[in-house]
Amino acid sequence: MSKRIAYIPLNSIDKLEIRVTNCKKTLSQVKKETGAAYILNGGMWNADGSPCPMLKVGGALLTKTWGAYGYGWNGGPDIKLESSPALFENFISVTCLIGPWGPVDKPSYQQKGQGGTRGRSAIGLKDGALCLYCSSDRSSDARTPEGLRDDLAALGWESAVMLDGGGSSMCDFDGAIMRGDGRKVHNWICVYTAKGGTEPPEGEDTMSKQYTVTPAIGVNIRSGPGTGYGKTGAYPCGTVVTILEERDDWGRTDKGWVSLDYLEPVKAPQRTTDNGIAIQTEYIPQGRKNRPGGLNLCSYLTIHETGNTARGADAAAHASYLKGDAATNALVSWHYTVDDHAIVQHLPDTETAYHAGDGAKGPGNTKSIGVEICVDAGGNFEKAKQNAAALVRLLMTENSIPLERVVQHHYWNGKDCPRTIRNTPGGWEEFLKLCEGEDPNVSDLDTDVEVLAQAGIITSPDYWKAGSGYSDANVVCLIHAMAEHIRKGKD
Ligand SMILES: [Zn+2]
Repeated sequence: MSKRIAYIPLNSIDKLEIRVTNCKKTLSQVKKETGAAYILNGGMWNADGSPCPMLKVGGALLTKTWGAYGYGWNGGPDIKLESSPALFENFISVTCLIGPWGPVDKPSYQQKGQGGTRGRSAIGLKDGALCLYCSSDRSSDARTPEGLRDDLAALGWESAVMLDGGGSSMCDFDGAIMRGDGRKVHNWICVYTAKGGTEPPEGEDTMSKQYTVTPAIGVNIRSGPGTGYGKTGAYPCGTVVTILEERDDWGRTDKGWVSLDYLEPVKAPQRTTDNGIAIQTEYIPQGRKNRPGGLNLCSYLTIHETGNTARGADAAAHASYLKGDAATNALVSWHYTVDDHAIVQHLPDTETAYHAGDGAKGPGNTKSIGVEICVDAGGNFEKAKQNAAALVRLLMTENSIPLERVVQHHYWNGKDCPRTIRNTPGGWEEFLKLCEGEDPNVSDLDTDVEVLAQAGIITSPDYWKAGSGYSDANVVCLIHAMAEHIRKGKD
């Protein structure tokens, strides 16, 4: 996942701090020092190390002041979008994207330093919650400032200020970490919440806490996180250890501290569709009202469309939505969201979810796996349908569900969902064909496969034409075969 969004109710914030570290501390060092629940990189700085463009910390103005919208606060829950730092102990402004009159038509920034499609960080307000946003540089979630503005407006942010971006975009949102390029930034937004420290993240991060000892001579166990601490033992090569806590590239096991430099993370056994999309897990926290916890018999697959045509309303955005209060209060949940580039799982298949609209004990909710296809503006719906069909194939195989039990949301309660598919003549039949592995573009591909077979570049055209050949691994083999073909031609 290359973007993270956090919504923190203002009334749960104990303290909001701008932590100035003068480019001397990493994200994990700031986490270690502060224990703040949420940390996000702050504003930019000049070549001489001074901050810019506008920063006031603990009553001290660290930069020149001029008229620009930014966020000011004294304690934290009182945070407001204002044009002057005068009334506040703390103030930060970089580039305002959504101001008091709505999205800013032409956001003010320097093209050279801040322009382009880059990783982005932002702070904002929505529905009585502090909003934090972070996306990775060089990822599919990299954005221009205007693109970020449109995404945040689509998410319903009432106001927003872009912070420093590019490799500086990094965060630790209650254990959901993005490290940017690992640089030491000038200042950080630190949010301390009533519940204090962080809980271990669930799902995708649990497995990554397991590491294998790689050096042949093993690694020392020490009494603290550093070589200055005494040795208390050693793990032999090949031992798999569980890391309970991390500090500056040191990890604590049940026996003591080991250097993570000598360990390799155990890769989670990731499920991948036959068209090469790895399924990410972002489970709704246990105990939420929209995670009722009852059994799901997995006898059917229910296909939905999100109905959310806002730009940026992709699988990651829906993962955030399902973990938030709005979805909890609305008692909605489902198992998977699919867009044109990602698949996110929100609940284990075997748990009941509230997506079919047929009641808490209804067969749609308790016997079917709910799959939502994104219809976000700017997304490629055809590709999203192909990805959804690939997920359907995987789930049919895993749960022995026949194609006749792949049904529309409409089947359970008569709702016009999946709407676009239903309202396209032949749309549902075409989707089921996709689920069977029939690509509408396959006939063109078949022709090309024959051409390659006649040239001797591929040897098993029927395998490719069966539709199962177009995996990433096979394409790699094909590239080698084509290169080999050209080399031979030159001899
Ligand atoms: Zn639906």
